Amino acid sequence: MMRIGCGYDAHCLVAGRPLILGGVQIEHETGLLGHSDADVLLHAICDALLGALGEGDIGRHFPDSDPALKGISSLLLLERVVALMTGKGYRLGNLDAVIIAQRPRLSPHIPAMRDRIAAACGAIPERINIKATTTEKLGFEGREEGIAAQAVALLCAVG
Ligand code: MG
Repeated sequence: MMRIGCGYDAHCLVAGRPLILGGVQIEHETGLLGHSDADVLLHAICDALLGALGEGDIGRHFPDSDPALKGISSLLLLERVVALMTGKGYRLGNLDAVIIAQRPRLSPHIPAMRDRIAAACGAIPERINIKATTTEKLGFEGREEGIAAQAVALLCAVG
């Protein structure tokens, strides 16, 4: 038994915030605005996993009105989603995701993102693929107003 889910998220880039993507802090003059650490990649991944489980979305599980989630590392949110997945009898088959950002250059950081996401998912890194693209300066990502991410996850029933 396999289940598939997709996720999408976008956050604004603002001065005075750290840029955290895939659980990795990246040196940049702006960072993503949000109630949590605003890790747009991990939010898209959480939504892909929740979608595959038929469990709604990240906003339902982790509302931005919850003061306990203010500034929280999204790796902790991903770990909670993975615990839900495990509790429902599924494991990650594979995960593919893309970050859409004009700047900064993300390819040097992708191996570290992959390792952190794999650890949070209890999976070997070979089951995780992370990509990054620009939009050739088109749209809000191209104007560096924000960063978006998309993810697709395939889950397999355990046993
Ligand atoms: Mg988000």
